Amino acid sequence: MDYAVARRRMVENQIMRRNITDQSVLDAMLKTPRHLFVDEGLRPHAYSDASLPIGEKQTISQPFMVASMTAALGLQGQERILEIGTGSGYQTAILSHLVSRVYTIERIASLAGRARRIFDQLSLTNVNLKVGDGTIGWLDQAPFDGIIVTAGAPDVPTEFLDQLAVGAALIVPVGPQDRQVLLRLTRTEDGRFSREELMDCRFVPLIGEKVGPTMGSDNGRVSVSPGEEGTSRIKRIYDWVLSWAETPYAVPALVVLAFAEASFFPIPPDVLLIALSLARPQNALRYAFAAALGSTCGGILGYAIGYGLWTLVADWFFTYIPGFTPALFQQVGDLFVRYDFWTVFAAGFTPIPYKVFTIAAGVFKINLPIFILASLVSRSLRFYLVAWLLRRYGDRARAFIERYFNLLTLVVLILLVVALVFWKFFLHTQ
Ligand code: SAM
Repeated sequence: MDYAVARRRMVENQIMRRNITDQSVLDAMLKTPRHLFVDEGLRPHAYSDASLPIGEKQTISQPFMVASMTAALGLQGQERILEIGTGSGYQTAILSHLVSRVYTIERIASLAGRARRIFDQLSLTNVNLKVGDGTIGWLDQAPFDGIIVTAGAPDVPTEFLDQLAVGAALIVPVGPQDRQVLLRLTRTEDGRFSREELMDCRFVPLIGEKVGPTMGSDNGRVSVSPGEEGTSRIKRIYDWVLSWAETPYAVPALVVLAFAEASFFPIPPDVLLIALSLARPQNALRYAFAAALGSTCGGILGYAIGYGLWTLVADWFFTYIPGFTPALFQQVGDLFVRYDFWTVFAAGFTPIPYKVFTIAAGVFKINLPIFILASLVSRSLRFYLVAWLLRRYGDRARAFIERYFNLLTLVVLILLVVALVFWKFFLHTQ
């Protein structure tokens, strides 16, 4: 399908014919690849005269509605605009071509994450996106030269009015779900607001602290595409893990996990490193640095446990920490005696839990600077390799995972069962 042709037809037939003549808005719509903002399966419909589902029971707005709301702001080019409800990010992208900066807020982290990746892909550098409740606005960046709300509010939220500059307009759909009206409220010099009704409309509900209970709940009627309701629990967990990349806790959590895994915790940090890098491939190397730092510091704790506390804690480790067996521990000790640096170095790449090596290094009193150096180099190499692969192929990997999610879940389950049976009947019995 030739998307450029589809886009031109969309602008001519759906926008210009309905009397939107602002050339800068038409140009922005002509150059914004709307098909990138919807799932692959919906791309043939991306330029149709309709809103489309984007997951999480939300929608990308109809092209005409995006054009109308944008034109209603009366933009000159130097504005700072606040958008509430990033959704797919399409409206944000259109605005980013027309103003100096767009501040946009989305309450659903997985949608925000997807939008952010498209902004990166399109090199939209004048967008500030945050995840949270947009009904309180964005106080520390106010006042704005325009505010656009892309979800329906029961009444005009006063917070938005307070954050408008003089002469600036708030564009907001207001009213019950089946009788919404798009309003433009403009702040006048005397501090009042002029109010205009632009057209009837129908938006998904604005949900948040500062909206009334009539629509501010998930019970609002929202049109949902077939299949969206059936999102599996595992897919929701997957989305939830990926959405971590959009929170400020992502990097600290990775440091803590890498630190803990190097001394006592059983789950390797690669799990979180991979999830975060899939969510935001452009940050993958940063995540690798965090994991390497956490793991090296945790390794020093492991070394200290082995060095000073081993006689007290050995039984506990052998009983409760997976991967710790006296035989393996002795083997690692023998390796240390012969090749100290290379044992720690190679340990960074083996599936044997890293803590076995860090604690053994302390027990067998390996030279500490050599241990730290080997840890730092090997853990960095390992995590940077994972991150580099995801930075390079992460987008494709994620598209593949999401396209074949159910099938992949089944394959992983079967492999797990086979591995368990194999372990129980062939390895464990010997
Ligand atoms: N402009 C979007 C686009 O082009 O894709 C359409 C957005 S969709 C119609 C409305 C969005 O508002 C949804 O993604 C929804 O999660 C979001 N939303 C609802 N209440 C919100 C709130 N209090 N704060 C931030 N976003 C909110």
